[in-house]
Amino acid sequence: MASPHEAVEAVRERLPALGTELVDLSRATGRVLAEPLLADRESPALDVSSMDGFAVRMEDLAAMASRDGLPVATGVDHEASIGHAPVAMRAGHAVRIVTGAPIPLGADAVVRYEDVTPSDGRVRLTIAPAAIKGGANIRRRGENAAGGARLANPGMVLSAAVIGGLAAFGKARVRVHRRVRVALVVTGDELVAANAAPQPWQVRDSNGPVLESLFGARPWIEMVSQSHVKDDEDALVTIVGAMMQSADAVILTGGVSMGHRDHVPGVAVRLGADAIFHKIPQRPGRPMLAALRPGKDSPCLILGLPGNPVSVMVTARRLAVPMLGKFAGLADSQLAPVKRSVANCDDATLSLWWHRLVGERADANGCGELHLLAGKSSGDIASAATSVGFVEVPPGEQTHGPLPFHAWMH
Ligand code: AMP
Ligand code: MG
Repeated sequence: MASPHEAVEAVRERLPALGTELVDLSRATGRVLAEPLLADRESPALDVSSMDGFAVRMEDLAAMASRDGLPVATGVDHEASIGHAPVAMRAGHAVRIVTGAPIPLGADAVVRYEDVTPSDGRVRLTIAPAAIKGGANIRRRGENAAGGARLANPGMVLSAAVIGGLAAFGKARVRVHRRVRVALVVTGDELVAANAAPQPWQVRDSNGPVLESLFGARPWIEMVSQSHVKDDEDALVTIVGAMMQSADAVILTGGVSMGHRDHVPGVAVRLGADAIFHKIPQRPGRPMLAALRPGKDSPCLILGLPGNPVSVMVTARRLAVPMLGKFAGLADSQLAPVKRSVANCDDATLSLWWHRLVGERADANGCGELHLLAGKSSGDIASAATSVGFVEVPPGEQTHGPLPFHAWMH
């Protein structure tokens, strides 16, 4: 593998998009759309008012501006009521109307409340009639969308905004890709839980909670299990083998390098998985493994991430998320990083792809500004804890221009 991008693509091209299911809108946020969103009718479906005021005919405006103004139409046949069919416009009258109510048939414009004075069942225009153009304050039928218009494509993550569109166009249930089932295994004899009082030679497991958070924050992923396993190849084969029965991906941390206690590559082989790669020219996260075990319906992906806490964050965000996104049916556009500049750029270079952690603060104008953090190593969880993500610097390049930015929370 020549780059993180190549590594991601090598895995993505071997993965299918998982099947689909229908879910209620109330449970669809963050899921991946598997059908287009089509307007089932024109929006709006008829001409409606965009203001509270009075519907009028253009030819009555001069009378409306005169001393006596126009009489306000009364009676159910002449009042524009929201939630009811449009009434017929009464000539020589002003028809009281609220925002969103159907324009009376035959009316040409809506005059805002702010532009009239009411008195005694009449309203008088307080601005020049010429200031009101035909169609003023009317939202025309179909001006937002024609019937059948395509408003969202498959592959998009459902935000509150798309959910609104689905509801407005009659999709109470929506077809989405099923969630990607992910199992986690942290390996290491030295690990204890976060609530333990560790001996100096023991380490609290941060990788498990990091991955649980990073993947769990994405509603298109379902965390199916999490285990801690000692550095014991047979135990690993048993546990990972069991997880592969129900998971689409098993993600391990630690034990993936060349040390005599690094069992993960051997475990993948014993479980019948074919290696896709086992090293990427990047820092942090060089010794990373991806392997695939073919399956009846869909294959199972095994990812061996390094053990160091910062390597885990970076490789999970930079590589595992877009790989799992293929399973999830996510469109490429939903995964592409935005480019950002860093305020404290420097001349440092590396002959590897370099993921440099960044923090964010507001500049003098209140605009968000990224700045490089000075982490000590890929074990420096203290510095990483203050980061919002990382920028990706190609081999031999500096940080002066805009760089792909990968945020933890995106
Ligand atoms: P390994 O890749 O297993 O050799 O681990 C590399 C380094 O990462 C060692 O210093 C480990 O103690 C540390 N490490 C491994 N797993 C974890 C974990 N789950 N949480 C925190 N640190 C870890
Ligand atoms: Mg280890």
